[in-house]
Amino acid sequence: MSTIPNTAPTARASATPVVTSEARAFAWIFGAAIVALALYYFIGVDQGAFSVFGSDTHIHEFVHDSRHFLGFPCH
Ligand SMILES: [Zn+2]
Repeated sequence: MSTIPNTAPTARASATPVVTSEARAFAWIFGAAIVALALYYFIGVDQGAFSVFGSDTHIHEFVHDSRHFLGFPCH
């Protein structure tokens, strides 16, 4: 019986887990939530009549389909 060297690919080296403190993890989660809520508010509030950049509808038109997808009324 011959011995064949095992040349089959082994499992790739596992990724190194990110080790962080609990406070730092909460800071990242809280920051991400604030950014997401600000973006959600920005998409919802920009109506043209009350636009973030004055009476301009560029932002409204740019996020128009997103507004419909998120359930904001506009027409
Ligand atoms: Zn619309």
